Amino acid sequence: MATEVTTKEYRLLIGGQFVPAASGETFPTYNPATNEVIAHVPKAGREDVNRAVAAARKAFDEGPWGKMTPMERAKRMRRVAEILRERLEEIARLETLNCGKIIIESRADVAASANCFDYYANLTGHMWGETIPMNGPLFDYTVREPYGVCGQIIPWNFPLLMAAWKVAPALAAGNTIVLKPASATPLTALVLGEICQEADIPDGVVNILTGPGVEVGAAIAEHPDVDKIAFTGETETGREILRLSAGTIKKVSLELGGKSPNIVFSDADLEEAVNGSLFAIFTNAGQRCTARTRLFLHESIHDQFLSDFIAKAGKIRVGDPLEDATQMGPVISKRQCERVLSFIERARSEGANLALGGKRPDDEVLQKGNFIEPTIFTQVQNDMTIAQQEVFGPVLSVIRFRDESEVVEMANNTIYGLAATIWTNDLKRAHRLASRIRAGNVSINFPTVNPPEAPFGGFKQSGIGRELSRHALDLYTQVKNVVVNLADERFDWYGKWPVGQK
Ligand code: NAP
Repeated sequence: MATEVTTKEYRLLIGGQFVPAASGETFPTYNPATNEVIAHVPKAGREDVNRAVAAARKAFDEGPWGKMTPMERAKRMRRVAEILRERLEEIARLETLNCGKIIIESRADVAASANCFDYYANLTGHMWGETIPMNGPLFDYTVREPYGVCGQIIPWNFPLLMAAWKVAPALAAGNTIVLKPASATPLTALVLGEICQEADIPDGVVNILTGPGVEVGAAIAEHPDVDKIAFTGETETGREILRLSAGTIKKVSLELGGKSPNIVFSDADLEEAVNGSLFAIFTNAGQRCTARTRLFLHESIHDQFLSDFIAKAGKIRVGDPLEDATQMGPVISKRQCERVLSFIERARSEGANLALGGKRPDDEVLQKGNFIEPTIFTQVQNDMTIAQQEVFGPVLSVIRFRDESEVVEMANNTIYGLAATIWTNDLKRAHRLASRIRAGNVSINFPTVNPPEAPFGGFKQSGIGRELSRHALDLYTQVKNVVVNLADERFDWYGKWPVGQK
């Protein structure tokens, strides 16, 4: 497998300047396909957080961004989208090198990130308020105003796209930003920072810090000058973010984990359901928060479905993610690889049947990287660890069901509520289930997709708030109510005592 090392020197982006960490320290970042170091990035600390927050504060309080016309903000955001498209291939390769996702998926992520900037550029002039009828001579209206400084903390599974989902709506609303990418995948977020500067987003509006979550992320979440926190990551880290933000009563939105069900009824188009279910679990090597990790099969089609499904899953080409022909890459890190393998061991010891995979591929070339074969467990019970905890790898649990009530009960029996898929050609059943399943994103006869137009987020412990769509603007604006006295007569509460009698 070809080794590529980036020779570029990466820097933090603070107040429009590309700078090293105050400590001068750096940390390595790796290629998950080979575990070789591909670059070093600055290791920010609390001092850098203070500098970045001060720059974002100044840019919000004094800078031109919030005062610009919405059209002018939109123009610059569209320029970000244009540059992303111009540099699509280069950025996609960097994404694949750093996070291991196959190049086809990285290209799609860069294109989707550009679309996200365009989508929110189109909404800059659409954050209007209401006029509210009042009794008497009062006139009342609301305006939507940006929060101010937004701290944004993102994970490693969609490094650029998660940055775009957060940065674009925050910018559209006129906020300023301190963004912290995951330590495993810092590179494309830093590139996005360069692009924002090139697109004439004013200095201090977008600041980017790379460094350990427990220090940099925590300092952002606690900082008194940060008005809002938007976090995507594990549910456990989300709890910590809530605790850290509590001291200053920050506005918090969270996109967290999932254990999403994928339900196949006997009246579905089974070939399409097999193909869609493969996509729903094995894309991005299973490292999607919305991965449909629990496949519920009706008992009447269970065996037939599985034989087709397992045969096709066994043919997924695992290998070098930079090759167009490769269909599945490695998981993010050695640690994650060991974690996934330990879940596999646990599933076997709890009595699930290993029907496919369950190990690292034998191919010698892949031994250096964090590859795991597509893995399928059958005869899973919904209360087993493998069916309840988020694995974040290419591992599927198959569970048999008898009827609609039973499957709804099992599908909902998890702490999560992020997504769900239903395969059926019975229109009434499809909508009945869509309403009974407790998840923020339900797809019918389609595996999973998150276009910018549609809201995205979780029920239960999968999150707070909705990203994407117009709803994301609610995450980045607050409502101000304004009441105006239009009366000719002078207001005089005490002079006209008793009130209402003169
Ligand atoms: P993670 O460990 O929770 O980390 C996410 C981010 O939080 C990283 O930038 C991390 O920095 C930072 N962080 C870690 N500890 C922190 C702390 N104490 N205070 C503040 N920040 C802290 O999640 P991950 O492993 O990167 O990502 C996988 C998870 O993300 C999965 O659970 C997945 O379901 C979830 N996810 C959810 C969605 C959604 O929209 N619902 C989308 C994608 C992913 P370091 O990297 O430096 O530790």
